[in-house]
Amino acid sequence: MNSVAAPPFQVLLYYRYVRIPEAAEYTDRHRALCESLGLRGRILIGEEGINGTVSGETSSTEAYMAALRADPLTADIVFKIDPAEGHVFPKLAVKLRPEIVTLGLPGEADIDPNELTGERLSPKEFLEAMQDPDAVVIDGRNLYEAELGRFKGAICPPIGNFRDFPGWLREHTDELRGKKLLTYCTGGIRCEKLSGYLRKEGFDQVFQLEGGIVTYGKDPEVRGRDFEGLCYVFDERVGVEVNHTETRRVISHCRHCGAEQPHYGNCRLPECNEQIFVCPTCRGSIGLYCGPACREKHEHSLA
Ligand SMILES: [Zn+2]
Ligand SMILES: [Zn+2]
Repeated sequence: MNSVAAPPFQVLLYYRYVRIPEAAEYTDRHRALCESLGLRGRILIGEEGINGTVSGETSSTEAYMAALRADPLTADIVFKIDPAEGHVFPKLAVKLRPEIVTLGLPGEADIDPNELTGERLSPKEFLEAMQDPDAVVIDGRNLYEAELGRFKGAICPPIGNFRDFPGWLREHTDELRGKKLLTYCTGGIRCEKLSGYLRKEGFDQVFQLEGGIVTYGKDPEVRGRDFEGLCYVFDERVGVEVNHTETRRVISHCRHCGAEQPHYGNCRLPECNEQIFVCPTCRGSIGLYCGPACREKHEHSLA
């Protein structure tokens, strides 16, 4: 009988909105824990909670999860776990921040999701709710994330930073009024604040996808149904598969020839570095560049 070896590494994605007293000391202790386990990734800690994504050898990520579950502050934390062949981050950064997710609302106007947030829907409930003709699906992420993949029919606000969301909403309040609002994001953390904000702004039918796209893609029943493209992630993988049903499709195209191209690359001109879709054929002829201007500039700099 063949035995399948466990993947050597894991990638974890997690958050917890919980009041952390002495957040600065907590951050130092947390960094020491991560360093001792050889983890890499990005963790934000604030008085309102913790938000992180890390990669590490499976024995290390298991020890890390056990440590957080043993701490009363984070005992209920939910980890989304992906197998990996190696690290997906170049280094470790554990940072203390005023907020772990920033909507840009001044001081007391900020949302505490433990007090106000949208109703949480399981992947199955979310899929069902999307079928309602009165439902409006709102992508709670940045446009460059939505360009790689999004729910079928979702509204994708043209924002490049989460703190631009309130401004976008003010311009679209009228068309959203009276609708059933369904929000989603990568792992659920942004929706906790976003859906709370929508409720604060007077919308009364506000729902959020619990656990985000990542959980939706792993759910054995929905298997990512009606999510189109890949889920943008903030590590070296850039995009991960979500939809494992017959509704899977590629929504991104090569910027030069228009062929389907599911994976981003970065423009090779260092000072540009824009994330672009270029198909293998055009990578061979034009190269991984936005266009002739970036290519000429880069070739000139190398000459
Ligand atoms: Zn092409
Ligand atoms: Zn460029």
